[in-house]
Amino acid sequence: MSSGPHEPEGLEKDGLRRFATIWSRAVYPATQTSMTRAELEDYLYPLAVRLCDALHAHPFTPAVGREVGSALVDAHCTSPDALPHLLGVIDSYLVLYGRDPESTTLDVDEARARCSRLQHSIAAGFTQALRDRTLSEQESLSRAALAAQTAVEEALHASETRFRAVFNSATIGISIADMDGRIRDANEALARMFGRSAEEMRRRNVNEWVHPDDAPHVWRMHRQLVRGERDHFRVEKPYHRPDGTVLWTNLTVSLLRDADGEPRYQLALLEDITERRLLHLRLRYEATHDELTGLPNRTLFAERLDRLLSASGDVKRFGLCYLDIDGFKAVNDSLGHAVGDQLLISVAERLQSCTAGSGHLVARIGGDEFAALVTDPSGPEDVTDLARQVLAALATPIGIDGRELSVRASIGIVEGPSGELRPEEVMRSADITMYRAKDAGGNRYELADPDSDARAIDRHSLTNRLPAALERDEFFLEYQPLIRMSDGHVDGAEALVRWKHPVHGLLGPDRFIPLAEHTGLIVPLGRWVMEQAVRQACAWHEERSAASKNGGGKGKSKGKGKGKSAGSGASDDGCRPLRVNVNLSPRQLHHPDLVPDTVAVLEAAGMAPSSLCLEVTESALIGADEDELKPLRQLAELGVEIALDDFGTGYSNLANLRRLPATTLKLDRSFTQGLQQHPADPADVTFVEGIVTLAHALGLAVTVEGVETEHQASKLRDLGCDTAQGWYYARPGPASSFQQGFAVIP
Ligand code: C2E
Ligand code: MG
Ligand code: MG
Repeated sequence: MSSGPHEPEGLEKDGLRRFATIWSRAVYPATQTSMTRAELEDYLYPLAVRLCDALHAHPFTPAVGREVGSALVDAHCTSPDALPHLLGVIDSYLVLYGRDPESTTLDVDEARARCSRLQHSIAAGFTQALRDRTLSEQESLSRAALAAQTAVEEALHASETRFRAVFNSATIGISIADMDGRIRDANEALARMFGRSAEEMRRRNVNEWVHPDDAPHVWRMHRQLVRGERDHFRVEKPYHRPDGTVLWTNLTVSLLRDADGEPRYQLALLEDITERRLLHLRLRYEATHDELTGLPNRTLFAERLDRLLSASGDVKRFGLCYLDIDGFKAVNDSLGHAVGDQLLISVAERLQSCTAGSGHLVARIGGDEFAALVTDPSGPEDVTDLARQVLAALATPIGIDGRELSVRASIGIVEGPSGELRPEEVMRSADITMYRAKDAGGNRYELADPDSDARAIDRHSLTNRLPAALERDEFFLEYQPLIRMSDGHVDGAEALVRWKHPVHGLLGPDRFIPLAEHTGLIVPLGRWVMEQAVRQACAWHEERSAASKNGGGKGKSKGKGKGKSAGSGASDDGCRPLRVNVNLSPRQLHHPDLVPDTVAVLEAAGMAPSSLCLEVTESALIGADEDELKPLRQLAELGVEIALDDFGTGYSNLANLRRLPATTLKLDRSFTQGLQQHPADPADVTFVEGIVTLAHALGLAVTVEGVETEHQASKLRDLGCDTAQGWYYARPGPASSFQQGFAVIP
């Protein structure tokens, strides 16, 4: 600019203001300025002043036009039609509003010429400024682009570096393979895991890495990934190492796709879990194996049995040998636990030798119990063969600490089709059958059969129910009369216990007395029987006394048979009390309270001891020493009668009879059966005759059991028997039938 702008005033100022207004209005729509129109007007006003000054200046120079052009570009009047507009306004109004014509020496033509040159100058300045600006924008753009590019490269480099660092220093193995499985890159950790160099790894193909222990779905998932149907999968997978060991990994494979979504690479991450797996295997081994013998334990056995019974696959049958060593407790108790342990180890070895190479599982179930599981036997013979083999293998004495121990065992065998029984049913059946083998003397095997299983299960449930049955009054007594053979009168009655079971109905003593004996419940049950029986005997006695006072009992002999008169509780003996016979089990005999309890029962009822007869089986007294006989002897001394029940079935030395405190022999039913027929079996006749003679010589009375026919009865009377009991006279019945007279069986 040649000189500073002057400050217009008055009309001149108004004129230039006007010019700036028109100029701004014309230009404003063509600008991209952020100014308001009024602000643009303010911006243009000084430019208008300067243009006006230039127009009238002496000498004239249009250079200010360039500056004005440039200033207009600075104000963003840069749209394509901005220049014609702003030039058009100058052309039309600058001269008009510029200066008062009076105050200028310029003529109109000169003014127009100068205006035109100014317009040119403005256009040049405008264009120059616009080009400068575009250039600078381009430059800053390319500078920015350059900077951006550099940043991307740096970022890429940084991320590549970071990736490399992670890739190389990672403790998990990483490999990148193409879609054909060729390994493009593998890190050091992977090479170390595989025991190869990274270079060697890069020559490999992942499809070669098949291992026999691969889970079946691994390669299926891999094929899906390669086809692009899945993006990743995760499995536990083993690999062979060159040194022959196995590498176990947690493998994660991910699919890497290109920008178009096409599968390009497979990225594998492998975590070495060999140690963890070994630890797991060891813990699992410890949890499933017996520490002492090293055999599989009950847990593993149960798993395998479960699998075998679920009948999956080709397995159609199963076989189980359940073995328990006979008398192992005695070995432990007498020779000590160390010897017991040695014995168990040897038994385990022998069992294994019997099943070696067969694929059968031998396990220690606990204590001295072992089991062998046979997969898919062709039938029971396969399993019984194995049991025989096992018993034979155990029979050869085992040397421990210079001792020769021979092992006997009982084996329960269950064999059958898979898919029918549940594991617990099989184990229960095996257990029951094993006990059957033990009960049969041991050192043998037995095969399970449903009937014996059912009986055993019955026994079990009955045993469990026994205590409650006593509390709930489920037991009751029946009485069977004892007939005096000399005159056919009722001498007494035997009390026989029955159980009215809520589910099984009426149960005879054979079903539950052995169980009660086994569990010990026989003691309270026996005491209850004695109380009931003694109380009943007293009741009968009272009734008889009352009846005889009233001049003879009801129902004198109703019997039709010869010499048979079982019809009445009353007899010619008048008020002689009826005797009641009560059975005693071996366990009761050895119970310390037998004597005081018996005395208490008799006293409570006010009954004479001689009215009670205790029946003891001959076998219960076999081998009893003086101490053991003492309670019975005390009772006998008190006046209680003692009968030797089921006589002849035991093996007692007849000479032994002398020292027993017995008063009566009850001859077992089996010896009187031969007398039922006519003519009687001469051997039985001789036997009974001999026993009667011997008994009488020893001062003992003889009662015969099981008299069922008239012929039998008369024969036995002829042979000198004192009392008889049997269906011929009466079946056991309720106490009331005793009062009414017993039913007579023809
Ligand atoms: P036992 O003491 O020898 O009783 C006689 C058994 O022979 C009774 O069987 C009776 O019903 C049966 N009997 C009687 N007459 C005849 C006959 O003419 N023919 C045949 N075939 N059988 C006859 P039950 O009642 O089944 O008793 C069986 C066994 O149970 C008894 O044999 C006895 O040993 C025992 N028992 C019964 N009650 C008790 C009791 O309260 N305590 C104890 N410890 N044992 C009892
Ligand atoms: Mg009896
Ligand atoms: Mg008997």
